[in-house]
Amino acid sequence: MFDLVVKDGLCFVDGEFVKANVGVEGNQIAYVGREDVRGELEIDAREKIVIPGLFNAHTHLAMTLFRGYAEDLPLKEWLENKIWKVEKLLTARDVYWGSLLGILEMLKSGTTAFSDLYMFMDEVAKAVGESGIRAVLSYGMADRGDEDKAKKELKIGTDFVRNWDNAFNGRIRAVFGPHAPYTCTPDFLVRVKEKARELNTHVHIHVSETRWEVEYVRERYGKTPVRLLEDIGFLDEKTVLAHVVWIDDEEMRILRDKKVSVVHCPISNLKLASGIARVKEMHDLGINVCLGTDGASSNNTYNLFEEIKMTSLLQKVTTGRADALKAKEVLRMATENGYKAYGLKGGKIERGYLADLVLIDRRKPNFCPTYDPINSLVYASYGCEVTHVVVDGELVVEDGIVLTLDEDRIIDKVEGLKEKFILERT
Ligand SMILES: [Zn+2]
Repeated sequence: MFDLVVKDGLCFVDGEFVKANVGVEGNQIAYVGREDVRGELEIDAREKIVIPGLFNAHTHLAMTLFRGYAEDLPLKEWLENKIWKVEKLLTARDVYWGSLLGILEMLKSGTTAFSDLYMFMDEVAKAVGESGIRAVLSYGMADRGDEDKAKKELKIGTDFVRNWDNAFNGRIRAVFGPHAPYTCTPDFLVRVKEKARELNTHVHIHVSETRWEVEYVRERYGKTPVRLLEDIGFLDEKTVLAHVVWIDDEEMRILRDKKVSVVHCPISNLKLASGIARVKEMHDLGINVCLGTDGASSNNTYNLFEEIKMTSLLQKVTTGRADALKAKEVLRMATENGYKAYGLKGGKIERGYLADLVLIDRRKPNFCPTYDPINSLVYASYGCEVTHVVVDGELVVEDGIVLTLDEDRIIDKVEGLKEKFILERT
């Protein structure tokens, strides 16, 4: 008798869809096969597609509060004139409610785990704990060349890792999140990486997001961001770089050789006119590429199905090849590659992996007829087809309802918070 069984679903196992029963024991998948297994809780998946949970590998979750707040601006102007100003008004409670809203949206669209870099991270951690979702969390640090600030930021980041890593039965992993090579000095980045190595944890950072950033770093330090990071010994298998839009061939080989993971955020990169990352080339070279939405202010959703489709389409048009990136490869980027980037054994329906599972209703007009479920998922999903979500062996979404959160209350709260940010906008 298993704790939970998902019965008769069309499951994504080893890159193929097969009819199978999935047995869960504790927080792990304990059985995948055709035997008639029984569970304390049984979910009928006869009309469902079952996939490993989606991993949103780069978010600023509480930016749900600024969804639709400042639009149609390039990154630098958007950050300096809008976002950084309004973020000064944020309180811990705002971040708590904004994070719950983001989690609600992610769970309902099949995301079981996310990696967040922001402020008031204790509040994000509390929201993660209550909601049942899995998360890799980091305090977003920047020293901006100020030694006092460097010390303070590193202390907040380190305390956060010490206080929260492995909380909620390991559902939270706490890592370091220095903002970017243009807001952090090389000296600060070296100290962050040393701390991360000492505490045996990952580092999550924005790198080479815009052409402006690359030029700025080159002018200031005489080299591109990736080369700078390589020279200071920052890059290794526990380094996760978000964006990586503007890199050359040699930098790509550096990332491969150092076993760095890259988070591709196609919609944010398009919306801020940052550019299109060379994802197919990175993937073909053997770099672990995963997918992220970035913050809700530059996306504007946390629906990873949109990133999946966009990733595929963009690589087809930039390479001029309709066969660039197969549907299956993009689904893996959205699932197992995200878990792998942060050293988690998840993202696969396989014995011994974390029990993070998503059930998707096949009987939807946009999925009909289903010749191959992979094509429905990658090219025809809205995200709202998700019916059930299991995280860490616990059922957290049932028939589209998030069992752990009060959806109406969260929406009312965030609508109420809007007022003070509107004042700042004018
Ligand atoms: Zn970001």
